[in-house]
Amino acid sequence: MRIIEPSVTILDELDRQSLPVRIEYCGRVCYKSEHRIDSDSAVPFVRQMAEHGHNSVLEMGVTTFIVSCPNQKDIDAFFFLQPKFLQIDRLEAQKLMITGSVRAFMELAATQNAIAMAIVHHLRQRHPYFFEKLSLTDSPEADRIGISKMTIATIEQLPAAQLAKHRYLAVKFIVNRAVTHELVRHRPCTFLQESQRYCRYSADKFGNEVTFIKPVFFEEGTEEFSIWKQSMEAMEQQYFRLLQTSTPQAARTVLPNSCKTEIIVYANLLEWHHILSLRTSMAAEPSMREVMIPLQHNLQQRFPTVFV
Ligand SMILES: Cc1cc2nc3c(=O)[nH]c(=O)nc-3n(C[C@H](O)[C@H](O)[C@H](O)COP(=O)(O)OP(=O)(O)OC[C@H]3O[C@@H](n4cnc5c(N)ncnc54)[C@H](O)[C@@H]3O)c2cc1C
Repeated sequence: MRIIEPSVTILDELDRQSLPVRIEYCGRVCYKSEHRIDSDSAVPFVRQMAEHGHNSVLEMGVTTFIVSCPNQKDIDAFFFLQPKFLQIDRLEAQKLMITGSVRAFMELAATQNAIAMAIVHHLRQRHPYFFEKLSLTDSPEADRIGISKMTIATIEQLPAAQLAKHRYLAVKFIVNRAVTHELVRHRPCTFLQESQRYCRYSADKFGNEVTFIKPVFFEEGTEEFSIWKQSMEAMEQQYFRLLQTSTPQAARTVLPNSCKTEIIVYANLLEWHHILSLRTSMAAEPSMREVMIPLQHNLQQRFPTVFV
């Protein structure tokens, strides 16, 4: 068995990559198959996700459109949709800023709304592999409704006033399973997590061992730490015994909360602000505070107007 410290990493390098590259990196955390990433692997990976309907993986690619639409009726009709998973702001009377994930835009196609379809077609021109399963006509809705301009805003182009809502940030946590159980309660986020159903920790790529997170509660060298460590060793042995005759999903039933797991949490800065206010407070679980307090310090430096 291996014991490691928890850690937290802001995946800001990823923000500057293309949508398929971002989605593939996050998606492969589930299967711990990051070693399969190469310069050509992203598009086949996301195509497979879209084909198989693994749509939550497609939430890990968010993009922002700035749409100028001269017709107020079309704008009203778009707002009337009340799309749940889009961030929408009116920059000027006829100019909208719309941020959403690939999944949100894919599902928007079903509405047949003019602005929605214009965005979908714009996205499909650049990334056709997301839309292969959908039977979309080729008619460019943007021409029909007279959208005068549609651009994709990079993260650097987001205005300060819209930053908190429209800037999304992926954060990777390596923590125990109790922490991730609490993290996934934050509903506006997207999550992808290492799957104990698929990962077989007796395999070479896991070092033929189960990895545990060092508990914040027990000092090394104490009686309590020793009890904890013995328990983990015993659990690992039973897990390996079960793996001889059963699957990882069956054997994992004996794995404890202390197991190391990797999770990527993707949310806008507004939601990160909310999460940090809850998860750094004295009432929060100490293992959670252990990763959230450094994250808060980091975000305060990067985005001082949002995280004061
Ligand atoms: C110290 C602490 C102790 C806790 N103890 C327990 C416990 O004993 N048992 C337990 O079950 N949970 C517990 N929790 C979890 C807690 O109840 C929340 O589920 C979790 O913190 C998610 O936070 P949230 O609901 O504020 O917001 P999020 O899910 O992060 O949502 C963010 C915002 O989205 C909006 N929102 C999202 N979904 C809805 C919705 N369906 N309706 C309306 N608005 C919505 C709200 O404005 C909300 O503020 C605890 C959390 C903490 C921090």
